[in-house]
Amino acid sequence: MSSSIDLPRRRDEEGDFHELLPVDCPDCGCTVFQAKDDPGLVWEPGTSWGDECRDKQCHCHESPLLGQRRS
Ligand SMILES: [Zn+2]
Ligand SMILES: [Zn+2]
Repeated sequence: MSSSIDLPRRRDEEGDFHELLPVDCPDCGCTVFQAKDDPGLVWEPGTSWGDECRDKQCHCHESPLLGQRRS
C-alpha cells in the first residue's frame, strides 16, 4: 500500500536525470546526494553546510562534485 516516495531528481553533468538518495558525507557528516541508479555519481553540498557539519573545509564544501563521479 505504500506509495512511492518522491525522491528529488537532478541532472548530472551530461544532462541525464537521476533520482537522488541522501547519504552522509563520511568526512564531515553533511548530506550528500547519490544517484539511486549509479552510486558513483554524487552531488555535494558546496556552501550549504549542515547543522552537524564537523569540517567546513571538507572536500564536499571546498570543491563540490555536482553530478560528477568521485575520482
Ligand atoms: Zn563533507
Ligand atoms: Zn560539511
